[in-house]
Formats: sequence, C-alpha cells, structure tokens
Amino acid sequence: MNRVAVFEGDDASPEVVRPAVRIVDKAGAAIEWSYPTSDDPATIRSVVDASDATLFGSASTRSVPVIEYLRWGKGTFANVRPIAFLPNAATPLADPTGIDFVIVRENLEDLYIGMEGDLADLSALSVVDRCGRSPIDHAPGTYAIKVVTRSGVEQVARSAFDLARTRAQQRGGPGKVTIGTKHNVLPATDGLFRNVALEIASEYPDITVESYLADDLARRLIVTPAQLDVVLLPNLYGDILSDEAAALIGGLGVAPSGCYGPDYAYFEASHGTAPDIAGLNVINPTAQILAAAMMLDYLKQPEPAQRIRNAVQAVYVEGTKLTRDVGGDASTTEFTDAVVASL
Ligand code: ATP
Repeated sequence: MNRVAVFEGDDASPEVVRPAVRIVDKAGAAIEWSYPTSDDPATIRSVVDASDATLFGSASTRSVPVIEYLRWGKGTFANVRPIAFLPNAATPLADPTGIDFVIVRENLEDLYIGMEGDLADLSALSVVDRCGRSPIDHAPGTYAIKVVTRSGVEQVARSAFDLARTRAQQRGGPGKVTIGTKHNVLPATDGLFRNVALEIASEYPDITVESYLADDLARRLIVTPAQLDVVLLPNLYGDILSDEAAALIGGLGVAPSGCYGPDYAYFEASHGTAPDIAGLNVINPTAQILAAAMMLDYLKQPEPAQRIRNAVQAVYVEGTKLTRDVGGDASTTEFTDAVVASL
C-alpha cells in the first residue's frame, strides 16, 4: 500500500484529477489517498512529506505554493514528459504514426529560479553586455538571471541517459539522447549544459548522443518526430518544446508529466489549468490519467499502471468516446466511463 497526496489544483484541474483517482482505484492499485485539509504552507508540507508521491492538478492561483514546495522543496529535478501518439487522436500531422519519444526537462534551474529585477540595481556590478555597455546604459528596464550548475546538469543528464537505456532494453532497439541548447548565443550557460551532458554521455557508450541548437530541434520536432527517443533540454526550452511536442500527438490533453527527485516524485498533466473550459465537463482527462499510470510505475505497481495504459489505448482505438480537443464529441464523464468500462 502506498500513500499518495492529492492536490486537485485550480480552475478545470479537479475535473481531470477526480477521474484519474477513480481510474487508479478501479485498476486495483493499492493506494491510500491523502487530501490536504487546508491551504496553509505547514499543512501542505506535512501532507507531502507523509506521502510516497503526489498526484497534482495544475496550479494558477491557490495551488502555486504547493507546486513550489513539490519542485524546489522536494528537489524534483527531472521533468519527464512522454510523447506517444494515440490512435484516432486528431493531429495536424499527415502521418503521426511512430511518434514515441520522451522529453526530459531540467526542472529547477535556468530562468525559472525567479531572480528578476530592475536593471538599475545591477549598476554597481562590474558586468557589461557583449558590446561593452553597462546595465545602466540600458536602463530603464529589467533583467532575469539564468543559472546553470554542473551538478544540476549532471543529475538530469544521468536521468535522461538512464531512461534511454531502459527504453532500449524494453524496446530492443538502440537508445538515443538528443540535446537541445543555444550554446552559440549563450556559451557560458547553455554551453555548460551541453558540455556536461556530453561528458555524461561518455559514461553511456551504448547510447547514441546528438546535439542540436534548440531552434533547429524545434523544427526537427515537426519534420522528423519519429526519429527522436529521449530529448534532454534546459528548463525554458523544455517547457516550450513540450507544448509543441504535445501538439504533434493531439494536443495538451494527452501529454502526461512526472517530476522526479532523489527521493520523491509528483505527477501531473503537462497542460495548465484550462480556465476557459472550467466547469463545462469537456476537458480531456487523458494526460492526468496517464500521469497517474506513471506514478504507479514509480511506486512499483506496474500491473495496474499497464492496465490503465491498455484501457486508455483501447478507448482511443475504438474511437467513439473521445473528447472534443482530440476530434470527438464526448464529455469528460463519458470518456472516463469508457476507460472504466474498458478496465
Ligand atoms: P495556465 O495559465 O494554468 O497554464 P492556460 O490557459 O494558459 O492555463 P492551459 O491550461 O495549458 O494554459 O490551456 C491552453 C489551452 O488548451 C486552453 O484553451 C485550454 O482549454 C486547452 N486545454 C488545456 N488542457 C486541456 C485538456 N486537458 N483538454 C482540453 N483542452 C485543454
């Protein structure tokens, strides 16, 4: 039996979290769910700390402190986002078959550390831009600090290469990691990310490594997505390219996400809180349900995880109970009922 903390999230998020909880129970997983009784930070921390993992709905307002604790408090450095085509999901590609890759996004550093401010505040520092001008020459204006650390890249790169190795063993093919950075424009930060990732690659001689500029990789995602296996990205590019990648397979409603740290992990849909469709019973719960299956794998309950994936796959193959974002006309409830029936 595992204990899982549940944060239903904001706006439309509870409408996908509740179906996911229902389906995990129906799949026969041994989970004891634990819901926070209040929004105060001490309660959030104690519910998370007393659990083996968290199932999280997306945050826009009320739940932002939760996500901050789950990420930086628990050190969940690797954001893993599988991108696999489900039959009958409407996509903009003429031929989406064969798309099956995973984005591994660094989750704690880069521009997401939240250090921004007024350019004038930097005037006392002896820093200059590429043309030799001081920050004050640019003022008034603002700045953001981008941080990349050797240890931060090492741990996320190892996760990516380990994942490529596991996938190669499962699929019986060669494994590959594709790195995307802007090392030409940002040699100190993205250059470090790329160099350290390539160093880690040398520990995995069985895994092929390739490195592209992030903008070139954005193009390759559209043109040759079936050639990708594991894609390793810094935080910001990972955020942007994973929405682009989700579009290839039918949109945000089908893309799950797991964030793993040294001793904790949380699972959510890749999408946000979809405030525009809150309360309409039309949101697609597939991403959240597949994230719950990833959670069961993490908790070493692979059988119910696989049952859930099979049931979702069967509903897509059958194709008449799909939600409108992937080309159907079923409600959230009708889709969920179909997955439960398939289980
Ligand atoms: P946030 O600020 O929380 O990220 P957002 O509206 O900016 O919210 P998303 O929540 O990711 O971003 O939504 C982007 C668009 O995709 C919205 O039109 C939303 O309705 C749609 N969308 C997102 N998730 C789903 C889903 N699971 N099913 C159907 N449509 C979705």
